[in-house]
Amino acid sequence: MKVVSKISELKNQIAEWKGEKYSIGFCPTMGSLHAGHLDLVETSKKETDKTIVSIFVNPTQFNDPKDFAQYPVKTDDDLLLCESKGVDLVFLPEVKTMYPETKTPISLSIPELQKNLCGRTRPGHFEGVLQIVAKLFHLTEPNKAFFGLKDYQQFRVISAMVENLNFPLEVIGVPTRREVDGLAMSSRNVRLTEKERETASLIPRMFALAKKTILSGERDLKLWKEILRDFLLTGPSVRIDYLEVVDPIELQSKEKLDGEILLAIAVFVGDVRLIDNQIIQIPN
Ligand code: AMP
Repeated sequence: MKVVSKISELKNQIAEWKGEKYSIGFCPTMGSLHAGHLDLVETSKKETDKTIVSIFVNPTQFNDPKDFAQYPVKTDDDLLLCESKGVDLVFLPEVKTMYPETKTPISLSIPELQKNLCGRTRPGHFEGVLQIVAKLFHLTEPNKAFFGLKDYQQFRVISAMVENLNFPLEVIGVPTRREVDGLAMSSRNVRLTEKERETASLIPRMFALAKKTILSGERDLKLWKEILRDFLLTGPSVRIDYLEVVDPIELQSKEKLDGEILLAIAVFVGDVRLIDNQIIQIPN
């Protein structure tokens, strides 16, 4: 496995692979890898010849400087995991490599897709995500790029950027990997205390309740959301950032519980922000 931090080294390797007509799969990450990230790698290895993982804690996507400062970094462990999974190249750039100070800042956004969910409560977040992902796409020239559906809005925003700006690649969504109790794996989970981790299991239980109440006939959207909010708020030190119901394609607020819906939440447990979502088909 190659580990490179300079753009020139990365480009040399890409040119060599392109010359050999290898297809390239790309999995961008912020490190502190867990089994969810490794699912992206496994999917990429199945679908492409060469798999690149980038590890870069991208400062421009953090709207909260404290969150950025506390973001866990475990590069040595990450490299061992990548090696054990057969990753071909890890790109590990420094901040000054991705953001040279001399460059004039640029802003990309897809306002319609960013009106709700994290786009609403984390101003500037998706601008940062789109900026770094666009740069990484140009540098890694992938045929396919793999993103987790846990970050569903991110998946939609990036898919839309690729479509709108004619990036010559396919964006593939990979299902959310969960802990035994159903909590979505996240690099942030390690910041939960034992008590908070217990509280966090309310999240998967809330999704189970959501489905159960739909199956038993609940169709009042406002009431349904209240039931789910109240359930989450039974946990100590839980603060709901948002609990929203949108359509899974345009991410616009639903007025009624019908068709296919995306139930998406962001919840602070203590000061750790966790997100999760489920697509639910509402029976007629
Ligand atoms: P991050 O390092 O959190 O920026 O995540 C890097 C990539 O891994 C993103 O595409 C995430 O959506 C994906 N990812 C993170 N957690 C999970 C998970 N539990 N299951 C599947 N993919 C995930």
